Amino acid sequence: MAGKLIVFEGTDGSGKSTQFARLCRRLEEEGRPFHRIVFPQYKEPSSALVRMYLGGEFGAHPGDVNAYAASTFFAVDRFASYRKVWGDYYREGGLVLADRYTTSNAVHQAGKLPPEQWEEFFRWLYDLEFTRLGLPAPDLVLYLDMPTPQAVENLRRREEATHTHGDIHEVDTAYLATCRQAALLAARTLGWTAVPCVRDGRLRPVEDIHEEIWDILSPHLT
Ligand code: ADP
Repeated sequence: MAGKLIVFEGTDGSGKSTQFARLCRRLEEEGRPFHRIVFPQYKEPSSALVRMYLGGEFGAHPGDVNAYAASTFFAVDRFASYRKVWGDYYREGGLVLADRYTTSNAVHQAGKLPPEQWEEFFRWLYDLEFTRLGLPAPDLVLYLDMPTPQAVENLRRREEATHTHGDIHEVDTAYLATCRQAALLAARTLGWTAVPCVRDGRLRPVEDIHEEIWDILSPHLT
């Protein structure tokens, strides 16, 4: 019996990691078993091409690697993790929570193509990973919708707090804005569940967003 795969998705700086960690803590507190997986798997050899790409080895701008080529880098990393890390647990009926998944290619790569080609690209992406590579399709995609100005603010705050610098995606504001447009179309056409992170122009508190996510998720936990 296949398990459940729940995915957190959003543009960079939308609060995915924050909400992912909050949900994991809640599930732990409630004693519910689950497996967590974060993509890309930066520490694994399967992410070598992803690291080269995000580190700028193929060019300093996201557009230096086309959407289809870049998507394959991320897809093979997922294939490796499914085979080596969480596939057995999932196939035995386990609950798997993923911070990013195939859906991230829709968010981060579609914007390199003209908008009229985005839906065709989404179809290619889902076919590649779920049909050809044999990865499971998610049961629920929670799309954290963060307007670009607030996402940029969040990213800068994170850079200051962690003394790090964003990768080639994260430092490019125009790119982030296009990613959000692609994400909104993907959410509409691929059946993702959107969670608005800004209300009346204000960032919603982490806990408020978490409660909405919990309400959406609860029916999937039974
Ligand atoms: P992502 O994983 O989507 O890139 P993060 O979860 O790392 O985003 O969040 C980016 C930054 O924004 C972090 O410093 C985080 O603490 C902060 N942040 C996330 N969500 C909120 C929120 N709702 N309110 C205030 N700050 C937030």
